[in-house]
Amino acid sequence: MSAGVASPECPFNQVYLSLLDHYGPQHWWPGDTAFEVMVGAILTQNTAWRNVEAAINNLKRADLLAADGIINCPDAELAQLLRPAGYFNIKTTRLKNLCMLLHNAGFKRLQEMPTRELRQQLLAVNGVGPETADAILLYAFQRPVFVIDAYTRRIFSRFGLVSGNEDYEALRARFEGALDATAAIYNEYHALIVQHAKQACRVKQECDRCILCPDCEYVTK
Ligand code: SF4
Repeated sequence: MSAGVASPECPFNQVYLSLLDHYGPQHWWPGDTAFEVMVGAILTQNTAWRNVEAAINNLKRADLLAADGIINCPDAELAQLLRPAGYFNIKTTRLKNLCMLLHNAGFKRLQEMPTRELRQQLLAVNGVGPETADAILLYAFQRPVFVIDAYTRRIFSRFGLVSGNEDYEALRARFEGALDATAAIYNEYHALIVQHAKQACRVKQECDRCILCPDCEYVTK
């Protein structure tokens, strides 16, 4: 994993400080346990967070928020509990795949793995791509891995710091090379990006209410 140390002039760092000053700490991830964070990372694929919460609440009510409980739950039953999160049959399979990793390797052993090895383990799970793996690494295992999502591409391509078409690993390296390599900063930054993409830099951007407007290439060019 690359490890950056931010300079005060670094534009990635300046955007971070502006967003933090404007929105304040976001207190992510919205989950009570590392396992709940991992479940949320699978369920949030292609859906809004409120739908994930509904599905997680179903799992809690069924006393199924544990790897073995999910593995042993019949697929059809689990799919009904996950229905609010959409793509519930696919997510049933993906969640069970992730739970098999936890069951076979053990959470404690995974916790002790170097980040690179743990990332490989997660990426080997069918249905876990780089964004999901990195969300799990950062928010469940507190590893300094920057999460790249569609919001990141949208904001930073408009702002003029990336093209937005870079592949996932190139973008991740760009952020990690520019910022202090701490899980706390990566945690907060990703949460702020999501907040900003919802509040101002939406699909239809609202630049007049954007804290980044004075420096944004989309506006200044
Ligand atoms: S000024 Fe507009 S395009 Fe630039 S980051 Fe803000 S909302 Fe997005």
